[in-house]
Amino acid sequence: MPSPADALPAEPGAGEPSITMFGPDFPFAYDDHLAHPAGLGRLPAAAHGREIAVVGAGIAGLVAAQELMKLGLRPVVYEADRIGGRLRSEPFRSSPETIAELGAMRFPPSATAFAYYLREAGLTTRPFPNPLSPATPSTVIELGGEAHYARTLADLPALFREVADAWAEALEYGADFARMQAAIRRRDVGAIKAIWNRLVPILDEESFYGFIARSQAFRTRSFRHREVFGQVGFGTGGWDTDFPNSMLEILRVVYTDADAGHRLVEGGVGQLPARLWSRAPARCVHWPAGTSLAALNGGAPRPGVAAIDRAPDGRLAVTDRWGRTATFDAVLVTCQTWLLSARIDCAERLFPPSMWMAMERSHYMQASKTFIMVDRPFWRDIDPATGRHVFSLTLSDRITRGTYLIDHGEGRPGVICLSYAWEDDAMKWMSLPAEERVRLALHSLRQIYPGLDIRAHIVGEPITVSWESDPNFMGAFKGNLPGHYRYQRRLFAHFRQEDMAPEHRGIFLAGDDISWTAGWAEGAVTTALNAVWGIVRHFGGATAPENPGPGDVWDDRQPMALPD
Ligand SMILES: Cc1cc2nc3c(=O)[nH]c(=O)nc-3n(C[C@H](O)[C@H](O)[C@H](O)COP(=O)(O)OP(=O)(O)OC[C@H]3O[C@@H](n4cnc5c(N)ncnc54)[C@H](O)[C@@H]3O)c2cc1C
Repeated sequence: MPSPADALPAEPGAGEPSITMFGPDFPFAYDDHLAHPAGLGRLPAAAHGREIAVVGAGIAGLVAAQELMKLGLRPVVYEADRIGGRLRSEPFRSSPETIAELGAMRFPPSATAFAYYLREAGLTTRPFPNPLSPATPSTVIELGGEAHYARTLADLPALFREVADAWAEALEYGADFARMQAAIRRRDVGAIKAIWNRLVPILDEESFYGFIARSQAFRTRSFRHREVFGQVGFGTGGWDTDFPNSMLEILRVVYTDADAGHRLVEGGVGQLPARLWSRAPARCVHWPAGTSLAALNGGAPRPGVAAIDRAPDGRLAVTDRWGRTATFDAVLVTCQTWLLSARIDCAERLFPPSMWMAMERSHYMQASKTFIMVDRPFWRDIDPATGRHVFSLTLSDRITRGTYLIDHGEGRPGVICLSYAWEDDAMKWMSLPAEERVRLALHSLRQIYPGLDIRAHIVGEPITVSWESDPNFMGAFKGNLPGHYRYQRRLFAHFRQEDMAPEHRGIFLAGDDISWTAGWAEGAVTTALNAVWGIVRHFGGATAPENPGPGDVWDDRQPMALPD
């Protein structure tokens, strides 16, 4: 069993420091900041007990709320749906301890701020069964009707090795890959900035596909190489759905190993937000021992927020969907920012037009997943005729795209994510009910495994999700398009409010789409810590000099600005 101390243990390396999600845009050591005995800051006694509204009880809202509670504020949490947001571990009704991870399901060891909270919550992890990973009994890659069975990359035809080599070459020549990873390992801010600040102006307007197609490595190989790369890609596979996105988005993932060495949270990642909500931290300023967010909020968050405006006395007025209005010195909004214009009546005067533009230009990825529970992990059975597993993790160019197998051991039900699809592939599923999704996925899989009767193993009801059709999300997570760097910088930098006009101060943003690494919970956590820094300042507090926060080092490390 893994120990809680190793919430997201990195693969053992050759004695060199591990890669972490340190930069490249804002290289700040959030993990060290969190672990420092001086804590995240101090508030003047007059601020103790003052209320702050936190909109959204996802990981960003709950991390910020917990840290602010520890510093002596009273976070008042509003939530439109359920605690956890996109960390949603949905139990199968007939076996509640068996869960489907509808949002985040695999976490890289490089996500060290996120791992800090997993450890604090006492949660354990184990390797996630990704394509060709040691935790995966076998992988089948089926493209153009041709299926390849493999346990490691070496088992695949030479074409796959050539594609992997071409990708490594493209990254090396087009994005200084090895030097950047070395700089991230050393946490060498100067070296990271030297590489990144040269690339940002060049690659902000380059799409992922453009980068691939124009690279020497792929240009000199066949179209088939580009096609196979798109469908199998790197890490978790199937990255062609990100082809229209800015190349900078992809570099952020690969430089920081965000798509490598993934682990799953035993029992479901949804336990993390649940524990942040219900457990009392070891020590809080001002609040008595045993105080938790649940206790401060009377056991339940307030309803979803319907409106935010400036009250006549200058405070911020938050109105919930049942019409109750309360005023606060500050509000932290952690839901997807589209919701500020589409579902929350947020007064325009609270943000300058440039911020509204950045929020409206957000591009969200679509994502759908369909899960079934099965009687046992039958995919470990060997077909005596072929000597191969009867069923494997499957990457395909069919509508299912990725089929993942989650094994809880013999004697317990297994979980199959029949289909994990993004963008256009996710749109194809959107209008279909769960039963039809299962039927269609099984039909596709039958073409790959003609002799296998998956139906005979199904127990319980299927579970499915399309994040874009949920009005509290309107999309899975952000994926910046070419030319979006400036917008992302505006959103990320908004937590430093000293230079803002007074009418724009007091409303803070955090969460997945404020971060540079949307689609990774690490970004939600680290932007929550930025917001904590800004809110502490807003209430007249400061960080300890020996543990400077993200806003304190801003002048030296801020993300580069591109001219407008
Ligand atoms: C399909 C999918 C796969 C993913 N895979 C991974 C992965 O493998 N690894 C990884 O690290 N990350 C992954 N992520 C990203 C990760 O889930 C997010 O980064 C993280 O959960 C976002 O947390 P958040 O607090 O920023 O936002 P959310 O979790 O969205 O929290 C915001 C909350 O605000 C609430 N809300 C909305 N409107 C209102 C309102 N009007 N009033 C009050 N509350 C409101 C919402 O209900 C929600 O609970 C994935 C996400 C998705 C969707």
